[in-house]
Amino acid sequence: MRIGALEAGGTKMVCGVGNEFGQIECLEKFPTRTPETTMPQMISFFKEHKIEALGIGCFGPIDLHKESTTYGCITSSPKEAWRNYNILKEFSKELACPIGLDTDVNAACLGEMEYGAAKNCKNVIYITIGTGVGMGICAEGTLLHGVMHPEAGHMFVKRLPSDSFEGTCPFHKDCLEGLVSGGAIGARYGKKAYEIPVQDVAWTYTAHYIAEAIANLILTLEPERIILGGGVMEQEQLLFLIQKEVISLLHGYLGIKQLHKIEDYIVRPGCKGDQGVLGALLLGRNELSK
Ligand code: ADP
Ligand code: ZN
Repeated sequence: MRIGALEAGGTKMVCGVGNEFGQIECLEKFPTRTPETTMPQMISFFKEHKIEALGIGCFGPIDLHKESTTYGCITSSPKEAWRNYNILKEFSKELACPIGLDTDVNAACLGEMEYGAAKNCKNVIYITIGTGVGMGICAEGTLLHGVMHPEAGHMFVKRLPSDSFEGTCPFHKDCLEGLVSGGAIGARYGKKAYEIPVQDVAWTYTAHYIAEAIANLILTLEPERIILGGGVMEQEQLLFLIQKEVISLLHGYLGIKQLHKIEDYIVRPGCKGDQGVLGALLLGRNELSK
């Protein structure tokens, strides 16, 4: 089977072709410009490769309800050119094949469950901490959508009394994304996140808020594994700080054995950057087999 995969991001569109076993044959990246510029590039890529199905993991928010008249539409995205753009419909017009669609983070979660750090798990949370904060959630083997899809990157966390930074989220100011996204860290400290020294207190704050969000998620969903990806997690020291802080915040309340081996519970992605494309490949495969 030749399956197309698209990891649609705000900065770049990663297009791939692979098979139902997760073997990626080729990958090509296109910068995310306007739909008028970028869509034709992606469409010719997929046409050239004669794909039998396509899977799309897309930045959001997106309308994922099949019965909705705007199914497949990117909704209130900060990427203005793509706002209210029906990415699914436009691909469907050009490619005569089944197309599966989900959020970028749900796709990454799926990729990690099949090929990465969450094999054999049915309850998984994939968190990306990059330009924004996004979360893909799988509960009892089903990717969660709810009324729209989880946007837990915007959850509210309890502020540290010593922290007066107002936050950068245009909707909520100091939600999680407004405090710990790459942009928020940059705005708070006046330099790029990757320029901040490893020992800086910036990472203690960042770890604290991410750990608060994770503690809330553990209490709510009792996941079997939590995977942390995205550019900000390139800071090697951050994962350990987060793991330690989660244990401290939960304060022995949950007797789950996973917390005793936290290095196997809150982990880095196992697909090493390919989780989004691999997940999209699975979305395409699943759509084809329906
Ligand atoms: P995107 O979220 O657009 O898909 P990334 O996951 O790569 O992209 O995240 C980009 C963000 O991560 C930027 O805000 C950048 O400042 C931050 N970032 C990238 N590398 C590092 C690093 N080594 N340390 C801290 N932050 C980083
Ligand atoms: Zn927010």
